[in-house]
Amino acid sequence: MAPVALVTGGSRGIGAACCRLLAAKGYAVVVNYAGNKAAAESLAAEIVAAGGSAAAVQGDVAVEADVLRLFTAADALGTLKVLVNNAGVVDMPARVDEMSVERLNRMFSINIVGSFVPSREAIKRMSTKHGGQGGAIVNLSSAAVTLGAPGQYVDYAASKGAIDSFTIGLAREVAAEGIRVNAVRPGIIDTDIHASGGWPDRVAQVRDSLPMKREGTAAEVAQAISWLLSDEASYVTGAILNVSGGRG
Ligand code: NAP
Repeated sequence: MAPVALVTGGSRGIGAACCRLLAAKGYAVVVNYAGNKAAAESLAAEIVAAGGSAAAVQGDVAVEADVLRLFTAADALGTLKVLVNNAGVVDMPARVDEMSVERLNRMFSINIVGSFVPSREAIKRMSTKHGGQGGAIVNLSSAAVTLGAPGQYVDYAASKGAIDSFTIGLAREVAAEGIRVNAVRPGIIDTDIHASGGWPDRVAQVRDSLPMKREGTAAEVAQAISWLLSDEASYVTGAILNVSGGRG
Protein backbone atom coordinates (compact mmCIF):
# COMPACT_ATOMS: atom_id res chain seq x y z
CA MET A 1 0.00 0.00 0.00
CA ALA A 2 1.30 3.47 -0.89
CA PRO A 3 2.31 5.78 1.97
CA VAL A 4 -0.25 8.52 2.53
CA ALA A 5 0.24 12.28 2.24
CA LEU A 6 -2.38 14.68 3.58
CA VAL A 7 -2.29 18.21 2.16
CA THR A 8 -4.62 20.74 3.77
CA GLY A 9 -5.92 23.24 1.26
CA GLY A 10 -4.78 20.95 -1.52
CA SER A 11 -7.30 21.99 -4.13
CA ARG A 12 -5.54 25.07 -5.48
CA GLY A 13 -2.28 27.00 -5.54
CA ILE A 14 0.70 25.74 -3.57
CA GLY A 15 -1.33 22.89 -2.03
CA ALA A 16 -2.36 21.58 -5.43
CA ALA A 17 1.25 21.70 -6.65
CA CYS A 18 2.25 19.68 -3.56
CA CYS A 19 -0.47 17.10 -4.25
CA ARG A 20 0.74 16.64 -7.84
CA LEU A 21 4.38 16.29 -6.84
CA LEU A 22 3.74 13.94 -3.90
CA ALA A 23 1.47 11.77 -6.05
CA ALA A 24 4.22 11.57 -8.68
CA LYS A 25 6.60 10.46 -5.90
CA GLY A 26 4.27 7.56 -5.05
CA TYR A 27 2.14 8.89 -2.22
CA ALA A 28 -1.60 8.29 -2.01
CA VAL A 29 -2.79 11.86 -1.53
CA VAL A 30 -5.65 13.31 0.50
CA VAL A 31 -6.60 16.51 -1.32
CA ASN A 32 -8.35 18.60 1.33
CA TYR A 33 -10.45 21.61 0.40
CA ALA A 34 -12.80 24.02 2.16
CA GLY A 35 -15.43 24.96 -0.42
CA ASN A 36 -14.10 24.43 -3.94
CA LYS A 37 -15.26 20.86 -4.47
CA ALA A 38 -14.91 20.98 -8.26
CA ALA A 39 -11.23 21.99 -8.11
CA ALA A 40 -10.37 19.31 -5.54
CA GLU A 41 -12.22 16.55 -7.37
CA SER A 42 -10.71 17.53 -10.70
CA LEU A 43 -7.21 17.39 -9.19
CA ALA A 44 -7.88 14.00 -7.58
CA ALA A 45 -9.19 12.69 -10.91
CA GLU A 46 -6.07 14.04 -12.69
CA ILE A 47 -3.83 12.16 -10.22
CA VAL A 48 -5.80 8.93 -10.60
CA ALA A 49 -5.74 9.26 -14.41
CA ALA A 50 -1.95 9.52 -14.20
CA GLY A 51 -1.85 6.19 -12.34
CA GLY A 52 -1.75 7.58 -8.80
CA SER A 53 -4.09 7.40 -5.85
CA ALA A 54 -5.99 10.40 -4.43
CA ALA A 55 -9.16 11.35 -2.59
CA ALA A 56 -10.73 14.81 -2.42
CA VAL A 57 -12.02 15.43 1.11
CA GLN A 58 -13.92 18.50 2.28
CA GLY A 59 -13.06 19.91 5.70
CA ASP A 60 -12.44 23.24 7.38
CA VAL A 61 -9.11 23.00 9.21
CA ALA A 62 -10.48 25.38 11.86
CA VAL A 63 -13.23 22.89 12.79
CA GLU A 64 -12.04 19.98 14.92
CA ALA A 65 -14.73 17.53 13.75
CA ASP A 66 -13.78 18.25 10.12
CA VAL A 67 -10.12 17.57 10.85
CA LEU A 68 -10.98 14.26 12.50
CA ARG A 69 -12.99 13.31 9.39
CA LEU A 70 -10.03 14.24 7.21
CA PHE A 71 -7.74 11.91 9.11
CA THR A 72 -10.29 9.09 8.99
CA ALA A 73 -10.21 9.49 5.20
CA ALA A 74 -6.40 9.36 5.29
CA ASP A 75 -6.49 6.18 7.39
CA ALA A 76 -8.73 4.56 4.79
CA LEU A 77 -6.01 5.11 2.15
CA GLY A 78 -3.13 3.60 4.16
CA THR A 79 -0.40 4.70 6.58
CA LEU A 80 0.04 8.44 6.99
CA LYS A 81 3.66 9.46 6.40
CA VAL A 82 3.40 13.10 5.42
CA LEU A 83 1.34 16.15 6.44
CA VAL A 84 1.50 19.52 4.69
CA ASN A 85 -0.18 22.22 6.77
CA ASN A 86 -0.86 24.39 3.75
CA ALA A 87 -4.40 25.77 4.20
CA GLY A 88 -4.23 29.47 4.99
CA VAL A 89 -6.06 32.70 4.37
CA VAL A 90 -5.43 36.41 4.10
CA ASP A 91 -8.04 39.15 4.46
CA MET A 92 -8.78 42.57 3.02
CA PRO A 93 -6.00 45.14 3.51
CA ALA A 94 -6.58 46.90 6.84
CA ARG A 95 -4.71 48.62 9.67
CA VAL A 96 -4.69 47.00 13.11
CA ASP A 97 -6.89 49.82 14.44
CA GLU A 98 -9.56 48.70 11.97
CA MET A 99 -9.53 44.96 12.66
CA SER A 100 -12.62 43.32 14.17
CA VAL A 101 -12.41 40.45 16.63
CA GLU A 102 -14.33 38.36 14.08
CA ARG A 103 -11.58 38.93 11.54
CA LEU A 104 -8.84 38.10 14.04
CA ASN A 105 -10.60 34.94 15.22
CA ARG A 106 -11.05 33.72 11.63
CA MET A 107 -7.44 34.44 10.72
CA PHE A 108 -5.95 32.83 13.82
CA SER A 109 -8.37 29.86 13.80
CA ILE A 110 -7.57 28.88 10.21
CA ASN A 111 -3.90 29.84 10.07
CA ILE A 112 -2.80 28.76 13.57
CA VAL A 113 -5.30 26.33 15.15
CA GLY A 114 -5.79 24.92 11.65
CA SER A 115 -2.15 23.77 11.70
CA PHE A 116 -2.03 22.66 15.36
CA VAL A 117 -5.00 20.25 15.25
CA PRO A 118 -3.99 18.44 12.03
CA SER A 119 -0.46 18.13 13.48
CA ARG A 120 -1.88 16.68 16.69
CA GLU A 121 -3.74 14.04 14.68
CA ALA A 122 -0.69 13.33 12.51
CA ILE A 123 1.55 12.85 15.56
CA LYS A 124 -0.90 10.35 17.04
CA ARG A 125 -0.40 8.27 13.90
CA MET A 126 3.29 8.89 13.10
CA SER A 127 5.03 9.02 16.48
CA THR A 128 6.96 5.96 17.58
CA LYS A 129 5.71 6.86 21.06
CA HIS A 130 2.22 6.02 19.81
CA GLY A 131 3.29 2.91 17.89
CA GLY A 132 3.75 4.74 14.57
CA GLN A 133 6.58 4.47 12.06
CA GLY A 134 7.59 8.14 11.89
CA GLY A 135 6.85 10.77 9.29
CA ALA A 136 7.35 14.37 8.29
CA ILE A 137 5.38 17.59 8.55
CA VAL A 138 5.87 20.83 6.62
CA ASN A 139 4.12 24.03 7.70
CA LEU A 140 3.42 26.99 5.44
CA SER A 141 4.84 30.16 6.93
CA SER A 142 5.42 33.35 4.90
CA ALA A 143 7.98 36.02 4.12
CA ALA A 144 5.41 38.28 5.81
CA VAL A 145 6.84 37.10 9.15
CA THR A 146 9.89 39.33 8.75
CA LEU A 147 8.16 42.08 6.74
CA GLY A 148 5.20 42.46 9.14
CA ALA A 149 2.78 43.46 6.34
CA PRO A 150 2.01 46.95 7.75
CA GLY A 151 -1.18 48.51 6.39
CA GLN A 152 -2.06 45.21 4.68
CA TYR A 153 -2.49 42.37 7.13
CA VAL A 154 -0.37 42.45 10.26
CA ASP A 155 -2.73 39.77 11.61
CA TYR A 156 -1.70 37.43 8.78
CA ALA A 157 2.01 38.13 9.36
CA ALA A 158 1.54 37.46 13.09
CA SER A 159 -0.31 34.22 12.40
CA LYS A 160 2.66 33.05 10.33
CA GLY A 161 5.04 34.17 13.10
CA ALA A 162 3.14 31.75 15.31
CA ILE A 163 3.70 29.05 12.70
CA ASP A 164 7.47 29.64 12.87
CA SER A 165 7.49 29.19 16.66
CA PHE A 166 5.18 26.21 16.34
CA THR A 167 7.58 24.62 13.85
CA ILE A 168 10.63 25.06 16.09
CA GLY A 169 8.86 23.84 19.23
CA LEU A 170 7.07 20.90 17.69
CA ALA A 171 10.20 19.81 15.82
CA ARG A 172 12.10 19.53 19.11
CA GLU A 173 9.15 17.94 20.90
CA VAL A 174 8.90 15.00 18.48
CA ALA A 175 12.48 14.79 17.16
CA ALA A 176 13.18 11.58 19.07
CA GLU A 177 9.91 10.02 17.90
CA GLY A 178 10.74 9.68 14.19
CA ILE A 179 8.99 12.87 13.09
CA ARG A 180 10.66 15.82 11.38
CA VAL A 181 8.88 19.19 11.31
CA ASN A 182 9.95 22.05 9.05
CA ALA A 183 8.46 25.17 7.47
CA VAL A 184 8.77 27.10 4.25
CA ARG A 185 8.37 30.84 3.93
CA PRO A 186 7.13 31.62 0.41
CA GLY A 187 7.50 35.13 -0.96
CA ILE A 188 5.15 36.44 -3.65
CA ILE A 189 3.75 33.36 -5.37
CA ASP A 190 1.31 33.49 -8.27
CA THR A 191 -1.86 31.95 -6.79
CA ASP A 192 -5.47 32.98 -6.13
CA ILE A 193 -4.68 34.04 -2.55
CA HIS A 194 -4.01 37.65 -3.59
CA ALA A 195 -7.46 37.97 -5.20
CA SER A 196 -9.05 36.49 -2.08
CA GLY A 197 -7.42 39.34 -0.13
CA GLY A 198 -9.09 41.86 -2.42
CA TRP A 199 -5.89 42.57 -4.37
CA PRO A 200 -6.04 40.59 -7.65
CA ASP A 201 -3.31 42.70 -9.32
CA ARG A 202 -0.88 42.36 -6.44
CA VAL A 203 1.65 40.13 -8.22
CA ALA A 204 1.86 42.39 -11.29
CA GLN A 205 2.07 45.50 -9.12
CA VAL A 206 4.94 44.32 -6.91
CA ARG A 207 6.86 42.33 -9.54
CA ASP A 208 9.45 45.01 -10.29
CA SER A 209 10.20 45.48 -6.60
CA LEU A 210 11.11 41.82 -6.11
CA PRO A 211 14.83 40.91 -6.00
CA MET A 212 14.51 38.48 -8.94
CA LYS A 213 12.07 40.80 -10.76
CA ARG A 214 9.60 37.95 -10.90
CA GLU A 215 7.12 36.14 -8.67
CA GLY A 216 7.52 32.49 -7.72
CA THR A 217 5.37 29.62 -8.91
CA ALA A 218 3.42 27.17 -6.79
CA ALA A 219 5.52 24.39 -8.33
CA GLU A 220 8.75 26.02 -7.10
CA VAL A 221 7.42 26.12 -3.53
CA ALA A 222 6.19 22.54 -3.81
CA GLN A 223 9.70 21.39 -4.78
CA ALA A 224 11.12 22.81 -1.55
CA ILE A 225 8.30 21.27 0.49
CA SER A 226 8.76 17.92 -1.19
CA TRP A 227 12.49 17.96 -0.43
CA LEU A 228 11.90 18.78 3.24
CA LEU A 229 9.46 15.86 3.42
CA SER A 230 11.86 13.45 1.72
CA ASP A 231 14.57 11.21 3.14
CA GLU A 232 17.09 13.48 1.43
CA ALA A 233 16.34 15.91 4.28
CA SER A 234 16.70 13.21 6.94
CA TYR A 235 18.78 15.40 9.29
CA VAL A 236 16.72 18.56 8.76
CA THR A 237 14.19 19.43 11.43
CA GLY A 238 13.05 22.70 12.98
CA ALA A 239 14.25 24.50 9.85
CA ILE A 240 12.45 27.45 8.28
CA LEU A 241 13.36 27.74 4.61
CA ASN A 242 12.81 30.97 2.69
CA VAL A 243 11.38 30.21 -0.77
CA SER A 244 11.00 33.86 -1.58
CA GLY A 245 13.41 34.72 -4.37
CA GLY A 246 15.36 36.82 -1.87
CA ARG A 247 12.35 38.73 -0.49
CA GLY A 248 11.94 39.17 3.26
P1 NAP B 1 -4.81 29.76 -2.27
O1 NAP B 1 -4.44 29.70 -3.70
O2 NAP B 1 -5.73 30.83 -1.78
O3 NAP B 1 -5.42 28.33 -1.85
C1 NAP B 1 -5.83 28.15 -0.54
C2 NAP B 1 -6.18 26.70 -0.31
O4 NAP B 1 -6.55 26.55 1.07
C3 NAP B 1 -7.38 26.26 -1.12
O5 NAP B 1 -7.21 24.88 -1.42
C4 NAP B 1 -8.54 26.45 -0.15
O6 NAP B 1 -9.63 25.57 -0.39
C5 NAP B 1 -7.87 26.06 1.14
N1 NAP B 1 -8.50 26.60 2.35
C6 NAP B 1 -8.79 27.88 2.65
N2 NAP B 1 -9.36 27.96 3.87
C7 NAP B 1 -9.43 26.69 4.33
C8 NAP B 1 -9.93 26.10 5.51
N3 NAP B 1 -10.48 26.84 6.49
N4 NAP B 1 -9.87 24.75 5.65
C9 NAP B 1 -9.34 23.98 4.66
N5 NAP B 1 -8.84 24.47 3.53
C10 NAP B 1 -8.90 25.82 3.36
O7 NAP B 1 -3.50 29.85 -1.32
P2 NAP B 1 -1.93 29.68 -1.68
O8 NAP B 1 -1.45 30.96 -2.21
O9 NAP B 1 -1.69 28.43 -2.42
O10 NAP B 1 -1.33 29.57 -0.20
C11 NAP B 1 -1.09 28.34 0.42
C12 NAP B 1 -0.34 28.61 1.72
O11 NAP B 1 0.86 29.31 1.44
C13 NAP B 1 -1.11 29.48 2.71
O12 NAP B 1 -0.88 29.03 4.03
C14 NAP B 1 -0.52 30.86 2.51
O13 NAP B 1 -0.64 31.66 3.65
C15 NAP B 1 0.94 30.51 2.20
N6 NAP B 1 1.64 31.56 1.47
C16 NAP B 1 1.24 31.92 0.21
C17 NAP B 1 1.92 32.94 -0.45
C18 NAP B 1 1.56 33.40 -1.84
O14 NAP B 1 2.09 34.43 -2.30
N7 NAP B 1 0.66 32.72 -2.53
C19 NAP B 1 3.00 33.58 0.19
C20 NAP B 1 3.35 33.18 1.46
C21 NAP B 1 2.68 32.16 2.10
P3 NAP B 1 -10.83 25.96 -1.44
O15 NAP B 1 -10.25 25.73 -2.81
O16 NAP B 1 -11.92 25.01 -1.12
O17 NAP B 1 -11.16 27.38 -1.18
